[in-house]
Amino acid sequence: MRDELEQLKKQALTELEQIKQPEQLKDFEINYLGRKGKLTSVLKQLKDVPKIDRPAMGSLANETKQGIIQSLELKKTQLVQGPKLAMSAIEATWPGRDFGLGHLHPITQFLNKVQDIFMSMGFEVVEGPEVETQKFNFDLLNIPKNHPARDAWDTFYVEGGLLMRTHTSPVQLRAMKKSKPPVRLIAPGRVFRNEATDAGHETNFYQCEGLVIDKCITVANLISTLESFLKQVFGQNVKIRVRPEYYPFVEPGLDVDMQCLICGGSGCSVCKQRGWLEMLGSGMVHPTVLKNMGVDPAKYSGFAFGLGIDRLMMLYHSINDIRFSYSGDSRFLEQF
Ligand SMILES: [Zn+2]
Repeated sequence: MRDELEQLKKQALTELEQIKQPEQLKDFEINYLGRKGKLTSVLKQLKDVPKIDRPAMGSLANETKQGIIQSLELKKTQLVQGPKLAMSAIEATWPGRDFGLGHLHPITQFLNKVQDIFMSMGFEVVEGPEVETQKFNFDLLNIPKNHPARDAWDTFYVEGGLLMRTHTSPVQLRAMKKSKPPVRLIAPGRVFRNEATDAGHETNFYQCEGLVIDKCITVANLISTLESFLKQVFGQNVKIRVRPEYYPFVEPGLDVDMQCLICGGSGCSVCKQRGWLEMLGSGMVHPTVLKNMGVDPAKYSGFAFGLGIDRLMMLYHSINDIRFSYSGDSRFLEQF
């Protein structure tokens, strides 16, 4: 019986080792430890063992049984819990890592907002080249060669008498070559200036210029259009004022200020204690410029305006340095 028990134990352990599926463990258990199992049938022989050998044989039988049970439990743990442990290392339901996808630049986001507002007012968006001729950038806009105003729009000159455009006004001139009044246009885009860079100035920035030409267009149309625009961007509580300003391509020329939203007009560091913020330049299109556009100033009138997109975006988001916009620093960009 001793040999049988040892043989059985050996056989059981070998069989157990070959088991790969947890479902097979139940069959193994029944086969060895069940009421009609192999071990049970060997144990039944215990009553035939001589009385004197019975205690020793009994304890050996018990040892064999416990050995098989322990090995079975160990195998269960390996087969059932093993995969779970392995799975926790590769947790399939865990959310994937963020790839850090980019998004539109705050200037582009703001420019889109500006375009949406003007399009809702019936404006058409036109675009044109960033490298311009002097004729379109200056001459046709009433800034002939040697005109002192050229100093205010100093830029970078390219071979062949070309230059980097200083405003998007040439785009409007080009658009008027193909259109007849009435027109409502906006020309958004990048412009260039030969400037020393500081918190408020960059050598390139974004503008959105607008042009309206029709019969009986007056300063009242200009003011109400720009007031409506500023209210749609900064809220209905916006208060504006207009001041005379000189621009060669308009007559009269007007600057539009907005009452400081931070201090409500009482003066603070954002508005430099003035209570007002300079928002944009505008005016009634100069008759000479209308003529240069092929429009009869006796029949038509119009207004034009120029928005500095970078500056408006900075006011909108309370940013105090224009250079952040072009730094490419993701710590800045991720805030929008
Ligand atoms: Zn203020």
